[in-house]
Amino acid sequence: MTNEQLWRTALGEVELNISRANFITWFRDTFILKNANGVTTIGVPNGFSKEWLENKYNKLILRALRNISSEIKELKFIIGAAPAFSIVAGEAPTKTTDHKKELTRAQTQSFQELEIDKETNLNPKYTFNNFIVGSFNELAQAAAKAVVNSPGEVYNPLFIYGGVGLGKTHLLQSVGNEIIEKYKKKKKVKYVSSEKFTSELVTALHNGKIDDFKESYRQIDVLIIDDIQFLAGKEKTQEEFFHTFNFLYQKNKQVILSSDRPPKAIATLEERLRSRFEGGMIADISQPDLETRLAILKCKALEKKVVIPDEILNYIAVNIPRNIRELEGALNRVIAANNISFSNQDLGSVEKTLNNIINAPKKLTNHKNIIQAVADFYDINTTDLINRCRKKEVVYPRQVAMYLLREELKKSFPFIGEKLGGRDHTTVMYACDKLNKEVEKNEILQQELISIKEKIYSN
Ligand code: ADP
Ligand code: MG
Repeated sequence: MTNEQLWRTALGEVELNISRANFITWFRDTFILKNANGVTTIGVPNGFSKEWLENKYNKLILRALRNISSEIKELKFIIGAAPAFSIVAGEAPTKTTDHKKELTRAQTQSFQELEIDKETNLNPKYTFNNFIVGSFNELAQAAAKAVVNSPGEVYNPLFIYGGVGLGKTHLLQSVGNEIIEKYKKKKKVKYVSSEKFTSELVTALHNGKIDDFKESYRQIDVLIIDDIQFLAGKEKTQEEFFHTFNFLYQKNKQVILSSDRPPKAIATLEERLRSRFEGGMIADISQPDLETRLAILKCKALEKKVVIPDEILNYIAVNIPRNIRELEGALNRVIAANNISFSNQDLGSVEKTLNNIINAPKKLTNHKNIIQAVADFYDINTTDLINRCRKKEVVYPRQVAMYLLREELKKSFPFIGEKLGGRDHTTVMYACDKLNKEVEKNEILQQELISIKEKIYSN
């Protein structure tokens, strides 16, 4: 494997573990300079990056590299030392070496984010063409298509929900991209995460530019807000969003939202927002079945222009059932390990490559992590959860925490009672019993538990 392939694959893995903003900031213009005797030397553009990568991402990078090649034991970071990059300022670049061409290609692949349009925040790589449809997402896809055909007229707002890595962002972005194309830029589209919406609002308030903020959002024809669950508990942001929403809605402008759970299950979402969301179309994305996972892998392999035997794709599809992001990660790893050629590959080597993803021991957790995850999810204080607080909004999350401590850690009822406000073990038994019954028939609770467990076991 060349250094370029090695780095590209490792970056693929790193990207799955940190936010896009951090990924772009810290990994742009990095490359592998040398890889010998267990030491991988990584070139970085400046001292700031060097420090950051060394201190903050060393472990993550090392882990990503070692998953590909277990001989790697140590990382070194060197500032801008690649000969191909040492173009002196002010001097015209001389002839491009193959080495540099290779590096540039690797980088443009990993940094497609750089193509993101500054006005719309849309990334052209997400389209309906490369979005595979199966029974798990067909309602969401059909609704999204309908919105493209008549924005603001059919499903308004369109609310898409589903777990991590299942294609919400891909679908939302596809709508934006297709509307731009179809209406030849006559419709003003804007995609933002709810975190970005919040931080823009906070900055505007801070700088006394709130009117500009309002004005800019009110000129939009298609407003897409991703991961709306992060508005939970942010009252000021919800209030501003409510006004923006109403303004756009009354003018028949399209609003599209996504979340990891249905509106009903977003705690501390203002009632008026909730009923607005429920007034439109709500569509969920669940988990893809085996056949669809296989179709997705075939599509991704085609995109990457590699031919992979069905037997191998099938193995990946069977063994990586949970989400599409992981599926893609596994495929990348297999491609890299096989040096892009599958001529004489057998399943055995693929099994080896994926061994530590598929057979990863279930991550360990402890009661503190679980309590924290429950508190985060319902947006309440951990202290309220573990004290005797009797506020209505705390009682139910506390029961969920009890249930999870029992289910995930198999703790005794007295132990759980002690960790959650010094309660009697009968209280805990009652809660676990209640939730056990409830979980069978209550889809919202099922969804909530999935999201909370995702939080518990990611990191
Ligand atoms: P979410 O926003 O729900 O967490 P993403 O939209 O980021 O998930 O999807 C994760 C990855 O899986 C992306 O690379 C995306 O392109 C891919 N993906 C998701 N759904 C599909 C699909 N139906 N067909 C093809 N690729 C998909
Ligand atoms: Mg997303």
